[in-house]
Amino acid sequence: MDLVKEEEVVEILQELIRRPSQNPPGNEKVVAEYIYEKMKHWGFEPKYVYKPEPNRPSVCVVYRGSEGKPRLVLNGHIDVVPEGDLRNWSVPPYEGVLKEGRIYGRGACDMKGGIAAAMIAAKVIKESGVKLRGDLVLQFAMGEETGEAGTKSLLEEGFVGDWGIVLEPTDLKVMTAEKGLAWYHINIKGKPTHASRPELGINAIYKALKLISAIREYNDEIGKRIHPLCGKNICTVTMIRAGTKENVIPESCWLAIDRRIIPGEKIEQVDKEIEEIIRKISGEDPEFKCEWKRVMLYESAEIPVNHEIAEVVRKNTKEITGVYPEPAGTLGSTDQRNFINDFNIPAITWGPGWEKSHEIDEYVEIRKVVDCAKILVLTILDLLK
Ligand SMILES: [Zn+2]
Repeated sequence: MDLVKEEEVVEILQELIRRPSQNPPGNEKVVAEYIYEKMKHWGFEPKYVYKPEPNRPSVCVVYRGSEGKPRLVLNGHIDVVPEGDLRNWSVPPYEGVLKEGRIYGRGACDMKGGIAAAMIAAKVIKESGVKLRGDLVLQFAMGEETGEAGTKSLLEEGFVGDWGIVLEPTDLKVMTAEKGLAWYHINIKGKPTHASRPELGINAIYKALKLISAIREYNDEIGKRIHPLCGKNICTVTMIRAGTKENVIPESCWLAIDRRIIPGEKIEQVDKEIEEIIRKISGEDPEFKCEWKRVMLYESAEIPVNHEIAEVVRKNTKEITGVYPEPAGTLGSTDQRNFINDFNIPAITWGPGWEKSHEIDEYVEIRKVVDCAKILVLTILDLLK
């Protein structure tokens, strides 16, 4: 374990942060090129994958073992969310400032810390001269922050395995389940008229109020369904747009709804519930008219809590940090679902960093990234040697 050098982890992480890869607009290329060159310099054979976007490459590395199986996939996304208003930052977001055991910068936590750990773990394995039986696969994917098919394309291109570890920030807790999400757009129709004679029209905002209260009741109702690791279902109105002018009764009101879905619930059922809410209001109020559609879906995902990949990483986390991670689930959505749902590859979400994702003055603790690299080395040896 002495082979994992803190200075080297820090250097790699700083270099990753110093290459801004904001998405949107999709500036992954600078980081992809850095990773490609670095891995090549270390003697690996990296490959670019120009899918699904020709100008936004992902990078993959396969470090082959003598038998080519089993295969372990380490996954990280190389894009970061934009830094927002620079004036709010107390440190420059793209310099990799080191302060009190932390490295600051956009992407430090989500998730260049995890990427640095994966790169170092692979390097250490290679340098140690240990002969692996199985293949180690590294995926550095584009487009995660905007829900694009970065990871999915890498899996489609054959960079698959028997287990996956998605190195998103979880404070080194092993997440075996994650919630899904669905977004709905709903357009409620009114009838415009002069505001001095509202009785001649239909006020779309007032009609929307009925739906908004129904959604709040629905949220309370579905919140009673609870997943042991991911918590409860949630449904929230997150956007509203309406009105033409101060003196015109609004002719339409547009709402966006975010529905968080616990593992085990099917999207067909969720669609039906939304439809039912609208049908009920229409039944009580013939003037209530709307169109709705689902515009986004991430399915939830889950593997058994005691699956081999989860148990091995828990054991090694305990060995390095002294803390045995309790079973846990993700509230958000990660590329873990592509492994489990699209390719039937058992996968966990597990990595350094925690609640600083997407925040101002984002940072990661260096010790956690170093621990992550060490735990990965042990895990690679356990599974592939
Ligand atoms: Zn992330």
